[in-house]
Amino acid sequence: MTQKFDTRAIHAGYSPDAATGARQVPIYQTSAYVFDDAQDAADKFALKKFGNVYSRLTNPTNSVLEERLASLEGGVGATVTASGHAAQLLVFQALVQPGERFIASKRLYGGTTDQFQNTFPMSFDWHADFVDVDDLDAVKKAITPKTKLIYAESLANPGGVISDIEGLAKIAADAGIVLVIDNTMASPYLCRPIEWGAHVVLHSTTKFLNGNCTAMGGAIIDGGNFDWKKHAAKYPELTKPHPSYNGLNFLESFGNMALAVHNHAIGLRALGPTQSPFHSFLTLNGIETLGVRMDRHVQNAQKLAEWLEAHPQVEWVNYAGLPSNTYHARAKKYLPKGAGAVFTFGVKGGFEAAKTLVDNLQLFSMLANIGDTRSLVIHPSSTTHGQLSEVHKKAVGVLPEAIRLSVGIEDIADIIADLDQALNAAAKVAKAA
Ligand SMILES: *Cc1c(COP(=O)(O)O)cnc(C)c1O
Repeated sequence: MTQKFDTRAIHAGYSPDAATGARQVPIYQTSAYVFDDAQDAADKFALKKFGNVYSRLTNPTNSVLEERLASLEGGVGATVTASGHAAQLLVFQALVQPGERFIASKRLYGGTTDQFQNTFPMSFDWHADFVDVDDLDAVKKAITPKTKLIYAESLANPGGVISDIEGLAKIAADAGIVLVIDNTMASPYLCRPIEWGAHVVLHSTTKFLNGNCTAMGGAIIDGGNFDWKKHAAKYPELTKPHPSYNGLNFLESFGNMALAVHNHAIGLRALGPTQSPFHSFLTLNGIETLGVRMDRHVQNAQKLAEWLEAHPQVEWVNYAGLPSNTYHARAKKYLPKGAGAVFTFGVKGGFEAAKTLVDNLQLFSMLANIGDTRSLVIHPSSTTHGQLSEVHKKAVGVLPEAIRLSVGIEDIADIIADLDQALNAAAKVAKAA
């Protein structure tokens, strides 16, 4: 019988080290690995035999993290990278050729939007068509013969958009293209996109998976559920003889793990954004407590959202756990254990009141991150989205009075007390204005 999620979060991918008995996953702090003999070396170099050659491609500590993430997301394999953005780069390098297109949700993490809008077309000739993924007809219409994938986030910030993964998966399947879901904000504990038909799942492990603000990292989970053979002409990196390995064909050699192997053998080997084994170790430690942390994160977020909704100094609260929210029904379907722990709310008094609020918070740390055990806050309009025009800010849902919270796992009474005193300080500014 397959073990349950919380058991796999602690055990998947590792049993005590046979040589030393080490219970915890060792940090294999080595750049290279000794071969048995010349033939063993030749076979490993040619990918005829699996084994560690050089840590840019594989490392035993990283492999444990990869197996654990594949297990938690329900994939056949995974690749960890130096950051979430590096994971995105590797997926596109494997699936999109220069001059080709992809569909991207209009509501994505700001750094991702920038990568897609500026760096990808300018440096790689990969072109995004930004679409409102809630409009499934618009998604369908945007697909061209050159479109190779659809990219969305299970749960997006700011805006609190929850993607209809099942609906997008059907469109991708009909068109014979890949559905990639960034599952960073939900984590596999709250949502597992592959179960809804997504083909590839991406993570910035920097956030909830690590959970303690100690290590950058990214991951690509290969669902093993895309028929590369049927759509071979569209994905030559995986389905044609590859010059980097003397004509090796990833699909023929590795079957439904073609993408996961390619991400290592080409992506990491040729582009180089490898995760440090020490970072993998820290993230593995974080994942051991993912379930209990997420339970507390969502419980605190729900209580806080309800408290804010009733607060006289609060204009609006955008949290899908609230029955009044547009995405409430979708949250129940895709995130049955809770609607995440990152959300925005609007403070009365606009831009200045919002700035006063964040200046007065003491328990909350003001910084550009999410998914930490600590409660975090940012005022998007003056920071993460401060460089955008007012029109663009509005288009991505960043209002001047909006405050983004990443609710931590401290005692909810302390979280509420801190916000209460800061809201009172903001009220004075709102009144004076
Ligand atoms: C942070 C984040 C990323 C980028 O990940 P890094 O680890 O910072 O490179 C991508 N997507 C989402 C949803 C994120 O929150």
